[in-house]
Amino acid sequence: MTTIFADRMENTRKSFIREILKVTQQPEIISFAGGLPNPGLFPVEGIAAASEKVLSEEGTNALQYSTTEGYLPLREFIAQRYLEKSGLKIDPDEILITNGSQQSLDLIGKVFLNKGDRVIIESPGYLGAIQAFSLFEPEFSNVPLLDDGIDTDLLDRTLSEGRAKLFYTVPTFQNPSGITYSMQKRMDTAAMLDRHNVICVEDNAYGELRFAGEDLPTIRNYSDNTILLGSFSKIIAPGLRMGWICAKKEVMEKLLIAKQAADLHSNYLSQRIIYQYLLDNDIDEHILKIKAAYGARRDLMVNMMAEHFPGEIGYTKPEGGMFVWVTLPDGISSMDLFELAIKENVAFVPGTPFYTEDGLGENTLRLNFSNSDFEQIEEGINRLAVCLNKLNVN
Ligand code: PMP
Repeated sequence: MTTIFADRMENTRKSFIREILKVTQQPEIISFAGGLPNPGLFPVEGIAAASEKVLSEEGTNALQYSTTEGYLPLREFIAQRYLEKSGLKIDPDEILITNGSQQSLDLIGKVFLNKGDRVIIESPGYLGAIQAFSLFEPEFSNVPLLDDGIDTDLLDRTLSEGRAKLFYTVPTFQNPSGITYSMQKRMDTAAMLDRHNVICVEDNAYGELRFAGEDLPTIRNYSDNTILLGSFSKIIAPGLRMGWICAKKEVMEKLLIAKQAADLHSNYLSQRIIYQYLLDNDIDEHILKIKAAYGARRDLMVNMMAEHFPGEIGYTKPEGGMFVWVTLPDGISSMDLFELAIKENVAFVPGTPFYTEDGLGENTLRLNFSNSDFEQIEEGINRLAVCLNKLNVN
């Protein structure tokens, strides 16, 4: 039976997180497992009003086929925002609207990766990127993350080995670790990749969600040799499935061919609704609300851990985004903790799936704080502390 399937399916794993989510969806479970934005912050009324306006005023146009690049006024809006927020001069023709960053990763894989090509990824890395790229059968090289971003010595060494085509990074509030690259690391990474002529794929899914510290330039600010990915999932709503790729003209030409072949163009009605929503509402005000809500949840989660977790346990204190990364003492398995936690009705994602090499990260785990309310965070961390106690961590 397996012989009828393409070889590329052999090495592409089912998303472990989706499997976990099936277990954790029972109502009695407090779940820090998913990576979901908080639905209480979805601008339902604004989207309803924008939908009504688009359909009543331009319904026949909005329901027609459209261009592969995406709705020009939306691309102009994104370009203008890059200029205002990051000082980046981007031509709207350097932006391709996609069905979320996940499709952006698939299109990049199609355009760049032959079987056996080397892709450098962060360790731990974003599972969705590992999965999307795996379908093109690359070889992954892992470079570990340190507290202030990628280990640049090891990145340089890996680049010197040659053959790498892409470096995939989430330098701001990384999924899964919550880590943010320092300014120096951004500059060094850009310079290093330029020197080795390797393209940086900079996934900025969480970049707008900073609730502490100062905004930093993107890696794209330091090198044109960067493909920058953006998404409306975390600042408006993921169900609209809308994101974009920002890339130079030569790359864009190829991406357009891949996009055409994949789906002709992204959902035009969604594009029109998002644009109308952006016109009629102050997106910055909306983002401020998200940041306040997530910042308060992060504070509570980290404070609860400081109070109730044994001192030997390490964890990141992200300045934005949606995740905290926990490191248990050596020799303590987060899978063992997971089994106990499920019995106590609390869930998280064990760290190993975020590594492409076996045997790494067995004592690590990811906690999501955006999708829980305050009571759930308090109770969930208390329950995890009980489980840690049972594992004799103290
Ligand atoms: N990149 C990263 C780093 C993510 O965490 C996510 C969402 N989990 C995505 C991309 C996918 O986002 P989108 O909804 O835009 O496809």
